[in-house]
This record gives sequence, structure tokens and C-alpha cells, in this order.
Amino acid sequence: MSGIDAAENNGNMRLQKLNNSPLDLRNETFPSQQTAEQAKVYVLIWFDVEDYYSPESDDADMKAAELASSLGVPVTLKVVGEKARALERHGRRDAIAALSRHDIGYHSDWHSRPPTIAAYLRNMSWEEGVREFERRETQGFKDVQRIFGKDPICFGQPGFSWAPQSYPALKKWGIGVYLDEALHVGLPDEQPFWYQGMLHIFNLRRNTIKMEFGSAGDFRQTCRLFRSAYHRLKERGGGVISVFYHPQEFLYRDFQDVVNFGGGINTPPEAWQQAERRTPQEIRSGYEHYKNFIQFMQSHEQLSFISAGRALQLYADRALRRSFSRDEVLELARGVQSAITFQAAGQVYLSASEIFYLLAKWMVTHSNDSRCGPLTGPRTPSGPTRPAQTEPAEMTVSRAEFERALRDVWSFLEESQQIPNAIWIDTRHVSPADFLATLGEVVEHQIKNGAQPHPISVREGNFTAAQYAAQDSPALWAWPIFPEGFHAPNLMQLAQLQTWTIKPAKLSPGPVPWPTDECEETEIKEEVSGVRETAR
Ligand SMILES: [Zn+2]
Repeated sequence: MSGIDAAENNGNMRLQKLNNSPLDLRNETFPSQQTAEQAKVYVLIWFDVEDYYSPESDDADMKAAELASSLGVPVTLKVVGEKARALERHGRRDAIAALSRHDIGYHSDWHSRPPTIAAYLRNMSWEEGVREFERRETQGFKDVQRIFGKDPICFGQPGFSWAPQSYPALKKWGIGVYLDEALHVGLPDEQPFWYQGMLHIFNLRRNTIKMEFGSAGDFRQTCRLFRSAYHRLKERGGGVISVFYHPQEFLYRDFQDVVNFGGGINTPPEAWQQAERRTPQEIRSGYEHYKNFIQFMQSHEQLSFISAGRALQLYADRALRRSFSRDEVLELARGVQSAITFQAAGQVYLSASEIFYLLAKWMVTHSNDSRCGPLTGPRTPSGPTRPAQTEPAEMTVSRAEFERALRDVWSFLEESQQIPNAIWIDTRHVSPADFLATLGEVVEHQIKNGAQPHPISVREGNFTAAQYAAQDSPALWAWPIFPEGFHAPNLMQLAQLQTWTIKPAKLSPGPVPWPTDECEETEIKEEVSGVRETAR
């Protein structure tokens, strides 16, 4: 399940808080990307396929995929490793084939079985956590990949069990999209963003709709929420609505994981219980509501359904390989002296870590050129992995000392694609935020005067990107699978350090080629009907 249900009330409170953020970007900093007439709303429907407790849910998984296929709508199915293995054990090649016709994502190896991701990473350092996530989650990724015969394109955490150390392994596996809903990191405009080099369809708050099909009233409320998100985005020039459900919800009144692992209790498989089942009539009308809801969405103008893979194309980041003019470098250098966060440059956004990289590169390799670039090569430098203070607090350094430090920073950046935890200037060390603010002043001076200042006073950096990671609190982790009162200050500190990498995602201008029929796979269709006859 997604913890969104369980924490709805808390979530609304936090949502208001986020919406009242002093740096609310919804109106100013994010200009409409298209005129109102062209405004396009993209709908990404996703299912978390995670019920490995009861074989009955295999049918619900298949039906969720098939109904969408029959209406020509792509969905994205995030599958738990153990669920994929269960489908295989149950001989459900029909369900596997039905799901494979859509984009497949990965949803952790065991989902809610304790300890879940955030619980086992809770007290780990960055490096330790990166290794532990990969150690525990690789098998599930490989099983999903093997059983569905395609590469999982997105990942989302179980419930609210989010953790910043999961990203390096995800990227190593070639996963480009983080698709889920929770409040740990995100931007106030409630639209997709980049974080740790992955496209996030995450924390879209009012633009994320949890489908509810348990009753006619639920269905109507789902339609109302959709309509208000649609009109909001149309007015703002378009954007993405994230819409999700769990196939098991078609069959059961509660989530199977809460019954078996609620409160962090690890019930052994032989004692697993099932949640209360809906009546056959309720199940039938649930599927009917789902179908009607898709048709309701289809009735809206200038609306497209997209999969996670399609989102990655639409939001392709054009910043990384672009070059930057001297004027753009100057603007960025000025920007970091007042606030260290993402900035716009022309038609692209740069994260704080990309700006750090660009300014260092400009000083080291291009300071006499009129253009600098391309920016970073293949990826966004990751954030520091430990907090650091500048010591001593105030210092003045010589031009030669600063240059030596800069060259050392540059070699570190090139080698590790990561912002250093601290920068040594002679025997003193400086936090990366203070170093970047100082570097901004040096670059500005160099551009205006053709030389660096001398001596150089180390400035105090104002790292405002930190606000895009939530404050740790039990409410942030309010998922019934965690032990009561669970919270994770260490994880949120690491999350904050990685906001060096956060920036808005921009829809690519112009048409992006894409096959017209995303669901068309006749061969699989034939195979499905053949298998179904023998399997059931
Ligand atoms: Zn889930």
C-alpha cells in the first residue's frame, strides 16, 4: 500500500505547511510552459502490484492491466520482487503477459516485510546504506526483470519507507524514474522534479490522485479530485497528474500487508491472514468504476496518458550537455552569492551541484572563453554525504591558496561526480556551500575585471535548497507497517544534503517522437489467450 491513505490527515496538514512556504514557486518562478490553448495535461496511471499473500489478487493484477489495454491506455505497474516470484510459482503466465504489455517498475523485494527499507537504512551512513540497499534489493530487481522479460523503468518505495541511500543502486540498474507519492522531498509547484539525477513523479500532492473504487461515492469523489487537478494544471499551462491504485483493493477492504506486518511485526508465511474480502457485487462494480474513470478522464480535452518511460522522454533533461554563455555563467555566479539552490539558465534549470560543477569548470578550464560547456557530461554530481562546518568561521585566503583548493576540488568532482563534504584551503576547511558562494564572487570578479580578487574572503553560503527536504517527524513516516512513533532524523539529514541535486523538471519543447499505439503487441495477445486456456 501507499502510506498516503494511512496518513491522509497528517498529509493534509503538512501539505498546507508546504503550500505556505515563503518560496512558493507555483506562480512566479515557474512560468507557464505553453499558452492556455496549448496547455496539455498528462496523466500517468500506476499500480503497485504487491499482494503476494493471496493468489486471488493475481486476477486483479491481470484485470487492472487488461482493462487499461482494452481502452488503449498505458499504465505503469510497479511490481514487488516476491509478487513477481509468486506469479511465477502460481503459473500465471497470462497475468505476467498482461502486465508486460505496459511499463514495468520495481517496488522493492519484499515491500512491507520488516525491516522495510527506511527501517534498515535508518541509522546507516551514506556509504553503508548504499551498499545495504543494493545487497537487499538486487535479487528482487533481477527477478522482476527476468519474469516480466523487460527492464523495470521506475521505482517507488513501499508505503512511506523512503530512503535517500537507495538511489545509487537504482541508477546503476538503469532505472530513470522515481514514481510514488510521499512528502520526503519535493518542490512547491506540485510537479515533476529531478533529484539525485532521477526524474521524480513524486510528492505532487494535489496533483496525485489515489483512485478509490470501493463504492459509487468513492468513484464520484475520485472524478471530482481529477477534475479539479485537471483544471488547475490547464490554467497553469499544463503538467502531470499522477493517478494510482493497488489491484488488491479491487478484492479486499484492507491492505494485506497491514493484516500481516502492521506495527512492524514479522508474521511468518504459515500464519499469514487475509484481509476482509469485498462481496462479488462490490468487486464487479469496482472494476466497472475503474473502467468508467478511465473513460471519464478520456473525455477531457488536450489530455494524454503516459507511462513512466514516456514521462522520461517528455521531461528529458537538456541541461547536462548544453554549453553556457559567459553572461549565463555570470548570472549563476551572482545567484550563488545570495542563495544556493537550483537556478534557471535560458530554457533549462541547473541544480546547486550542477552550478558548483559549472563554475568550477569555468574557472579551471574555460575562464578566458566566451562560452563554457558542455556542463557536466553524463550526470548530475551528487550531493555531499556528511554535513560540514567552515573552520575557522571567518577567513581570508590568498589567490594562490584558493587556486590550489579549486584545482583539488575540480579533480575530486571529475573523479567522483560528487560535491566534496569539505574543501581544504591550505590547513583550513570550508563547507561546500561557503566554498560555492566564494567561488561565485571569484567568478564574477574574474568576468568583470579579468582577474581574481586578492586576497579572497571566504563568504557564508546560504544553502536554501535544504528546504525541499521535509523536516523529520513521526508524521512524515506515518505508515502502519512501521513500529509506532518511527522516525528517522539521519535519513532526512542525508536527504537534505542531496537537495544539492534538486531542480524542477521541464517539459521538452517541441514534439518528441513516440510510437502511436503504446499498447499494441499482437504477438503477446495471442500468447496470452493460449496460455489462459491451459492455465485456468
Ligand atoms: Zn506499495
